[in-house]
Amino acid sequence: MTELKHPELLRSCSFINGKWQNSGQQFRVLNPATDKEIIQVDEVTHQQVIDAIKAADAAQTKWQNMTSVKRGEILQKWSALIFEHRNDLALIMTREQGKTLTDAKGEVLYGKSFFDWFAEEAKRVYGDTIINHEADKQIQVIKQPVGVVGAITPWNFPNAMITRKAGAALAAGCCFVVKPAAETPLSALALAYLGQKAGLPDGVFNVVVGEDAKTIGKELTTHPLIKKFTFTGSTKVGKLLSQQCASSVKKVSMELGGNAPFIVFDDANIDLAVDALCNAKLRNCGQTCISPNRIYVHQAIFSEFKEKLVLALNNVKQGNGEDKSNKIGCLIHHQAAKNVHAMVEQAKQQGARVELGGLTEEPSASFYPLTILTNVKHGDDITRQEIFGPVLTLISFDDEQTVVQQANDTEFGLAAYFFTDNIHRVHRVSTQLEYGMVGVNEAAISSAMSPFGGVKHSGFGKEGSKYGLDDYLTVKAITLGYK
Ligand code: ADP
Repeated sequence: MTELKHPELLRSCSFINGKWQNSGQQFRVLNPATDKEIIQVDEVTHQQVIDAIKAADAAQTKWQNMTSVKRGEILQKWSALIFEHRNDLALIMTREQGKTLTDAKGEVLYGKSFFDWFAEEAKRVYGDTIINHEADKQIQVIKQPVGVVGAITPWNFPNAMITRKAGAALAAGCCFVVKPAAETPLSALALAYLGQKAGLPDGVFNVVVGEDAKTIGKELTTHPLIKKFTFTGSTKVGKLLSQQCASSVKKVSMELGGNAPFIVFDDANIDLAVDALCNAKLRNCGQTCISPNRIYVHQAIFSEFKEKLVLALNNVKQGNGEDKSNKIGCLIHHQAAKNVHAMVEQAKQQGARVELGGLTEEPSASFYPLTILTNVKHGDDITRQEIFGPVLTLISFDDEQTVVQQANDTEFGLAAYFFTDNIHRVHRVSTQLEYGMVGVNEAAISSAMSPFGGVKHSGFGKEGSKYGLDDYLTVKAITLGYK
């Protein structure tokens, strides 16, 4: 087994106020591909969570008064250290999360790109001057950091879901306390280690790790010193945390679940669509909130599309992500594989046909094979849930209006994709889809430069892009009298 070049990146307790804080009570971090323990990590205590919030608050004034150029320089240094340690960071991620090393390296670079982007954006916090609304007055509009940020992040992107939030928060001048998922604390702690090396002052970036999500989450969503709360995870937990934030009226952003339609019209470039679908679906074994979840294929090209898709996915090698010959890894734990299996079994009972993959028995490990289902109808249970696994459900359609209605017929509104060579349809359909992000003849839609976020039950707020800082800034109007 490959060893880490820098074993000091592997940390085993929370990082609070620039110090590694033990607690004496531990939980296990497992490698989902082997079920073996990687390391035991100290469960943060309730008091330590409060300490982290207070440390962030104590560091806040100095951090926000530092020039944006200086804050940007620290982010850039942090980014350079991430790049230097990219292989180790990827290995840690593959071991705790199960994705392939290629996916993990891709994520580390994607994660770092948010520091690069926001290091520059930090300098572009502009205000306005509004003149002449009354003869002897002028209004100055300025933007200021909202204050200490609490964050909770999921296990599917253990690095990038933190950098996407922390990059913007720190650039805007906000100190940060994050709770990563208990399944994947190690990537977060490695990031903290490099952040300190990059010159982050004590208290500016804190990581609290533990399995007791409820207690930690309650503090991060209700403590009066936290001024803004940001969450990426399931809609169910997001709704609960939004409610908790309401008691102290925090500024909130929520990046929640999706149920992405992927529509292939009869005038589409079929090879392009198949290729894009495979890449998007294989990424992280289908465990991304923007993963194509419902594949609507025009009936005139259905057979051709299905055959090409089966051919493309027929021999994709699956196994431990550390083995470079594997193109797809495992799911986050056994239960995740069981959940996917249950969804496929239910779909079969509702008439779905297995064209590829599937299992005859409930899985006893974290692996679920690449599976293609046909004869799925819009409205079947599997089309109403986020699959979060390597299962493609093919649904036939025959007219544009109906398929757009079906695509929108969900409470979610994160990402949607469609493939067509008809320019009129491109404009029509992209405006009609009720989603925060739409890919047209393209399924790779994530970039630090592009606003990421959903509508409806998929949440609110934008991460990345020139809009990303807004979630961490408040707008102040200063009326200047001339009298
Ligand atoms: P997923 O299905 O991706 O695990 P979750 O919404 O359950 O999505 O988890 C995302 C993050 O939310 C994780 O860090 C998890 O620990 C945290 N979490 C889950 N339940 C709660 C809760 N009741 N309060 C606070 N955080 C929670």
